[in-house]
Amino acid sequence: MLQTVSAFSRLGEENAFAVLARAVDLQRQGRDIVNLGIGQPDFQTPAHIVEAAVKALRDGHHGYTPATGILPLREAIAADLRRRLNVDVSPDLVMVTPGGKVAMHMAILMFGEPGAEIMYPDPGFPIYRSMIEYAGATPVPIPIREGNGFAFSAQETLSLITPKTRLIIVNSPANPTGGVTPKAEIDALAKGLAKFPDVAILSDEIYGQMTYDGETHQTLLAYPEIRDRLILLDGASKTYAMTGWRLGWSVWPTSLYENARKLAVNSFSCTSAATQFAGVAALEGPQDAVRDMVAEFDRRRKIVVEGLNCLPNVSAAIPKGAFYAFPNISRTGWKAKPLAAALLEEAGVATIGGPDFGVHGEGYIRLSYANSADNIRKALGRMGDFLANRKPG
Ligand code: PLP
Repeated sequence: MLQTVSAFSRLGEENAFAVLARAVDLQRQGRDIVNLGIGQPDFQTPAHIVEAAVKALRDGHHGYTPATGILPLREAIAADLRRRLNVDVSPDLVMVTPGGKVAMHMAILMFGEPGAEIMYPDPGFPIYRSMIEYAGATPVPIPIREGNGFAFSAQETLSLITPKTRLIIVNSPANPTGGVTPKAEIDALAKGLAKFPDVAILSDEIYGQMTYDGETHQTLLAYPEIRDRLILLDGASKTYAMTGWRLGWSVWPTSLYENARKLAVNSFSCTSAATQFAGVAALEGPQDAVRDMVAEFDRRRKIVVEGLNCLPNVSAAIPKGAFYAFPNISRTGWKAKPLAAALLEEAGVATIGGPDFGVHGEGYIRLSYANSADNIRKALGRMGDFLANRKPG
């Protein structure tokens, strides 16, 4: 019998993909399913970006590129960070990867080993914990609480640091809660982290352009006191509706960049050349598609939150960022995962149970509002009928 290394027994999953597969299964059986499960924009990639990739292929860009990405794209990324966030980043410290997820994989592999502690948001993107466990490190959850507007608390985060802490992962705007951590809290975190020079930080800012109600995104790149150990994760998946293209990028401190480059050489070699040319067009071209998409998410956000708050025993905080609502369902009498499963199987609405994002996700389900307003209304109607008529299972 083949025996793989034991680490695989600790490797987790992203249940959103399993829910998507089940939703597609049910659709094939002829069921009408509204999918509020998967976290990807329901928009097409803007045409000028698609054209840039087609042109790159026609122009013969068919070969490998440098492992860290083509220079015009790394320059465009640095220019975008300067324009949007007013931070100076050298293109030589930018790494282009097939999706932002790769940067978290790399960062966790760099710091995760038995005996090391890595802190991560809970509820949070499930791959954080999965990779920490795979690496053999000890996962230390940073609780993310509704009472705190689903922001992380700087004080609580700092209080969890021990001499074994090697890496802290933070994410704002956040998946799955839609929480945006206020600037004062980010200031306090950066200030407090200055006292822990041996701790690296991975700031997952992939939803940085998706904020609402005048909330502005505060990047951790803006704090010189932690730049020597800060890894920024960003990418095109969400901002430019490019999840399937696989285009992410990250900014690394000088001391870690070479490690990241070597990991790239040892795994994917480089990101698809045509995708990288598309990335240049995305960053350097008109940004109105991004603005329109965020405005449409904002409209749906209001519909989804208003509708959720009308459901029996459900309450939903207003998400300030990303495209997720994370309603509190604890008063319905249901546990979150059985509720999400029954909503899919019986009511034809795909959502994700909060515990798929960590133990602190119990009592909540995640709804992605990356779906049309009509479908959102249909889903809310179905959820209302279901909760009114079905006894908790
Ligand atoms: N980080 C967060 C918080 C996410 O929600 C996602 C995707 O859902 C990613 C990173 C990775 O995105 P990608 O690998 O498509 O760039």
